[in-house]
Amino acid sequence: MGLIWQIIDSLPDKAGYALVEQIHGHFYYGRNLLNEASELIPLTLPTRLQKEKVEVFVGDVVQFDSYDQTVKSVVPRQSLLPRPKVANIDQAVIVVAATNPPLEPEHLDRLLCHAGLTTPSPPIVCLTKIDLEPYPEVLKQYEKFNYPIVPICNKSGVGVDRLEHLLGHKMSVLAGSSGVGKSSLLNSISPQFSLKVGEVSQKSTRGTHTTRHTQIFKVKNFYLLDTPGFSRLDAQTSQVEICSEKAFPEIGYTGEACAFPDCKHLDEEGCKVEFSESRKASYRKLMEEARRWEDEQLQSKKEKARRQSKKQDSTVNIPLLKGSLRAESRKSFKQNFDLEEEKEELGCEGNEEYS
Ligand code: GDP
Ligand code: ZN
Repeated sequence: MGLIWQIIDSLPDKAGYALVEQIHGHFYYGRNLLNEASELIPLTLPTRLQKEKVEVFVGDVVQFDSYDQTVKSVVPRQSLLPRPKVANIDQAVIVVAATNPPLEPEHLDRLLCHAGLTTPSPPIVCLTKIDLEPYPEVLKQYEKFNYPIVPICNKSGVGVDRLEHLLGHKMSVLAGSSGVGKSSLLNSISPQFSLKVGEVSQKSTRGTHTTRHTQIFKVKNFYLLDTPGFSRLDAQTSQVEICSEKAFPEIGYTGEACAFPDCKHLDEEGCKVEFSESRKASYRKLMEEARRWEDEQLQSKKEKARRQSKKQDSTVNIPLLKGSLRAESRKSFKQNFDLEEEKEELGCEGNEEYS
């Protein structure tokens, strides 16, 4: 049973609770859990909760006041996707086409890696357009991992049942590049989708189904989330995260055989982690991107410390202070202290740049 269902089951009573399905401006559109067929309720966050810096995300279950339509509290969330921030997601459904557009292993690896690092359950790979090409050879290398692979045809509906079974009692986020058949899949799952999507599109003055806003759809016994953000890949990932079983399961499968605890499983002698050729290429690329991102982070931290250090110097050089025995002000003492802390964090002590 998925997270959102566990949360709903744990409520003493469904009355007065809603699931936030969309957010527009300051309005949190909640679906009344007691009456799911009713319209979405535009809820606002009262000043008290704003002052307490309470945040509400799509996917949150909130207790609300039906009289003034405000949020009273947020039921503790069980998971949170980082970008876009969506609460209580269980898994990702990564949609790829067997052909047209051709399946790109690197793109699939990125999405699998991102999903593995951000959602609690392993992602599902949904292969569309199997009527055009049955099963691309390149997908065979993924069969040994813990990812269910579900081939479907949106034209005939083949395979949709199995996918729905895997979605049951869960909240899943859809991911995949445009043209792979995500909209068609939504319509295969439920013909009402086109209607629902149409309604939202009209509101946002867009003629077609372009996913601009993160929104949740309840279908049968599951929730699906259509979001533009998930397929945009997250560059802010560290090497430690990439170099993990969650991101690349083969590290876990053969990891015990790797004798070195700090091994990056790239070209180290004696490393026994086995990647296929294309997976290794993706891993290498993602590790390199992570390294660059870490460098940039360190660089900007150093820059910040340097700017602060300059500020300190100019304060000290004010002629009036020269020779003065005045005690260090509380402010500059704090600045110096912060700077020292930062230097220590960066391991920059004794570095010429800072002296
Ligand atoms: P999206 O951009 O991911 O939402 O993709 P669409 O659902 O708009 O589909 C892109 C194109 O692929 C459309 O012309 C669909 O008719 C077609 N398509 C989607 N799924 C299938 C499928 O399973 N088989 C075939 N032959 N075509 C499909
Ligand atoms: Zn290794």
